[in-house]
Amino acid sequence: MAKARIVKQVRKGLIRLMHDDALTERVRRTLVRTLYTQPSSLALGAAAGIVASSIVAYQSGSTGIIILTVALTVVAIARVAAGIGLSPDKTHRSTRQLEILYEIGAFTYSFLLGTIAALTLLIDAGATLKVAIVANALCYGVGICGRNAGRPSIALGQLILVCAPIFTVCLIIGDAPLLFLGATIILLIPAMASIMLNIFKVLRDSIASAEESERMAEKMRILARTDVVTGLANRAGLNHEIVERLTQIADDQMLAVFWVDLDRFKEVNDLLGHPVGDRVLVETARRLKEVTPDEASVARFGGDEFVIFCEVENRRECEKLASEIHAEIMRPIRLDGDRMEVGASIGIAMLPDDGLDADTLMQNADLALYHAKVNGRKQTCFYHTSMSRDLVRRREIEAELRAAILKDELSIFFQPIVDLETGKIRTFEALVRWFHPEKGELRPDEFIPVAEETGVIVTLGNWITTQAAKAAAQWPEDVTVAVNLSPLQIKAPGAALGIINALRNAGLDPKRLELEVTESVFLDDDNATEYFIEDLSKEGIRFALDDFGTGYSSLSYIHKYPFKKIKVDRSFVSGPDVGTKSDAIIRAVAELGSKLDMDIVAEGIETVEQVEIVRDAGCTLGQGYHFSRAVPDYLATMLLAKERGEDGPSKAVA
Ligand code: C2E
Ligand code: CA
Ligand code: CA
Repeated sequence: MAKARIVKQVRKGLIRLMHDDALTERVRRTLVRTLYTQPSSLALGAAAGIVASSIVAYQSGSTGIIILTVALTVVAIARVAAGIGLSPDKTHRSTRQLEILYEIGAFTYSFLLGTIAALTLLIDAGATLKVAIVANALCYGVGICGRNAGRPSIALGQLILVCAPIFTVCLIIGDAPLLFLGATIILLIPAMASIMLNIFKVLRDSIASAEESERMAEKMRILARTDVVTGLANRAGLNHEIVERLTQIADDQMLAVFWVDLDRFKEVNDLLGHPVGDRVLVETARRLKEVTPDEASVARFGGDEFVIFCEVENRRECEKLASEIHAEIMRPIRLDGDRMEVGASIGIAMLPDDGLDADTLMQNADLALYHAKVNGRKQTCFYHTSMSRDLVRRREIEAELRAAILKDELSIFFQPIVDLETGKIRTFEALVRWFHPEKGELRPDEFIPVAEETGVIVTLGNWITTQAAKAAAQWPEDVTVAVNLSPLQIKAPGAALGIINALRNAGLDPKRLELEVTESVFLDDDNATEYFIEDLSKEGIRFALDDFGTGYSSLSYIHKYPFKKIKVDRSFVSGPDVGTKSDAIIRAVAELGSKLDMDIVAEGIETVEQVEIVRDAGCTLGQGYHFSRAVPDYLATMLLAKERGEDGPSKAVA
C-alpha cells in the first residue's frame, strides 16, 4: 500500500515537474541560482569522485577505467569552473541557457562516475575497491539529489544516470549480493525522488512567497510615491528622485529645478468643482511631461504645484525650457468644448549656482516662485540672492509688526473718491501706512500680506477701522469712509462685532462706512462671509467690490450680495495694458452698474484724459493721483473744507 502511495505521489510530482514552465521566470531563475550557489560543495563532490576513480584506475590498471577517469577529471574541473564563473548574478545568459549548461556537465559527470563504478564491478578488482567506488557513486547520486532539489529534473536525471550503469551490471552478473544491490537501487530512486520533490515544493513555495511579498512591497513603495490624480511622482517620490539624482550627478553638471504654481487654481476648484479641477491637473501634468525632456523628473508637489527637475547644459537652455513650459501651460485647455485659461507662475533655482543640496535648491526655487507671484503672477522668475534678503526682510517685518501698532508707527491715510459729474468728494478710502524708524515708509502691499500670513491682520484690521471711523466722524455727514478688508479678517471669529464696536467707539453712523472686499473673500465654501455681509448690511454698512476685473470677475457675486459699488481695477484705467479692449470692459461694467443702481468707481485715474474716458464710459466715481494721493487725516479735512468753501466743480474734473 505504502509503496503504491509513494509511486503515485512520485508520478504526480514528476508530471508537475514536467510542467514547471508555469513557474514565473524570476522564481525559476532563483531556483536555477541554487544550482550555482556554493561551488565548494560541487568541488568537494568532484574531488571525491576524482580521487575514488583515480585509485580504482591506478590499482586496476584497466585502460577503460583510466580513460573514463581522465574524462571524469576534465568534466569535474570544467563544472567547478563553470560553477564559479557562470552564476546567474554574474552573467546575462538566459535562465534556460544556464540550466542546459549545468545539465550537460551534471549528466555527463554522473554517467561517467556510474560507468566507472559499473566497470569496476565487472573487472577483476578487489572487493574493497568495488565497495569504495560503488559507495562513492551512490553517495554522490543521493547527495546530488538533495543539493539540486531546486531543479528536480536535473537532480533525478543525475541519480538515474549514476545508478543505471551499476544496476545494469548487477543484473548482468546476477549473483545474489549484486541482485540485492540492484533491488536497493530500484527502491532508492523513487524514495529519493519523493524526498527531493518535497524539498523542491518547500523551496519553490517559499521563493514564490518571498517574490510575492517583494512584489507587493515594491508596489506599495511605488504607490506611496505616486500622485493618484495625475500619476506623476508625489512629494515623497520627488524627494526620493532628487536625492538619488544629486548623488549620481557629475561635478560640472548643471541641474534646474522649476517650481510651477497654477494661478488662481483654487477659483477653478471652487467655482467649477473638484472634478473639473482634477481634469485641469491631469491635463497640466500631461503637458509638462510632453514639453520636458524624457529624462526630466516631473512631480505634483501638492494642490496646484508641480516641480520639475532636469539636467541642462547652461542657463540659456534653462531659460528656453522655462519659456516652453510656461507657454505650454498658458495654452487654453479645452474641457468638453469649453475653453479655459490657466495661468502659471514659475520659480527656478539651479545647481550649482543657487544651491548644492536638494533642500537649498527647493527652498530657493520656492522663493523665486514667491517673487514671480508677487510680481503679478503669470511670470517666470530665476532665483537671485536678493530674494533671500527679501525673505529676511519679511521675517523682520513679521517680528516688528505687532509692536509697531503699539508704538504708533502706523497711521491711516485717506484718498478721495470723487463724483465724476460734480467733482465733489463723496468718500475717502482709508489706506494704511507704516513709518518705520529705520526702513522708512513701508507700503501696505509689503506688510499686509505678512499680517495676513501671521494672523496679525485681525488686530490690525480692527485698529484701522477704528481709526478710519474716528476720522470720518469729523467730516460732513454726506462724506463716507471706505475701509479695505482682508479675507482672513472676515473669517476671524467675532469679525462683524469688531466692526460694530469700532463704529460705536468712534460714534460714526454705520451708513457712513463702506467696506471694500475683493472677490477672493468668496472663494471658500463656508458661510462665514455670507453671514458677515448679511449682518453688517442690516446695520446699514455698505459694501464695495474692489479690484474688479483682476480676479474671476464672476457676475454671480454681484447678483448674490448687496454691493453698492464696483471698483474697476486701475489696470483698466492707467498703465501699459490700457486700450480699446479695457475701455470696452469699463463700459460693460458701467452699464451693468447703472442697470443695477450701483456706483462704478474707476481706480487709478492719473490724467485728465483718463477722467474723460472713464466718465464717457459711464463710471460715476473716480479715484487716483489726478485728484489726490492718499493724505493724512488733517489734510483730508482740509480738502473737504476747501471744496465746501468754493462753489462749482473742482479743477480736477474740469
Ligand atoms: P487698493 O485697495 O486697490 O488701494 C488702492 C491703491 O492704489 C493704493 O495703494 C493707492 O495709493 C493706489 N493708487 C491710488 N491712486 C492711484 C493712481 O492714480 N495710480 C496708481 N498707480 N496707484 C494709485 P496702497 O495704499 O499702496 O495700497 C495698496 C493695497 O494695499 C490696497 O489696494 C489694498 O488692497 C491694500 N491695503 C491698503 N490699506 C489697507 C488696509 O487698511 N487694510 C487692508 N486689508 N488692506 C489695505
Ligand atoms: Ca481698496
Ligand atoms: Ca482697488
